[in-house]
Amino acid sequence: MIFGVIPAIFLRRCPSCRRGKVYENHFRLKKLCAHCGYDFYPEPGFYLGAMMVPYVFSAITTVPFAIFLKVTGVVGSALVAPLAWYYLCVVSLLLCYSKTFWLHLEFRISQRQQKLERPSSKS
Ligand SMILES: [Zn+2]
Repeated sequence: MIFGVIPAIFLRRCPSCRRGKVYENHFRLKKLCAHCGYDFYPEPGFYLGAMMVPYVFSAITTVPFAIFLKVTGVVGSALVAPLAWYYLCVVSLLLCYSKTFWLHLEFRISQRQQKLERPSSKS
């Protein structure tokens, strides 16, 4: 079954064929797509940009909550454990999806660049 782009990201499928799974388990990426052979590690450090997505999202959702709890009088040290737990859960959950999103984004950009570099057949 071939998925659309958005379902393929949420189901963590290969950006090229949208059939093969990107992950072996929740945390471990496969090296290649089992269906089409697409390389999930195109270059060293490829996923550094993908780490910004869960970081920014968790910061946006955590900081206002921490400020609210601080203003309402909850003791500072009592904030650390629940916020750290929330942060770890959100980051670990979002990181696998952001890596898949990053793969799809890179795939679309490289496809578009290839189309622009090809000489047009009409001229
Ligand atoms: Zn594939």
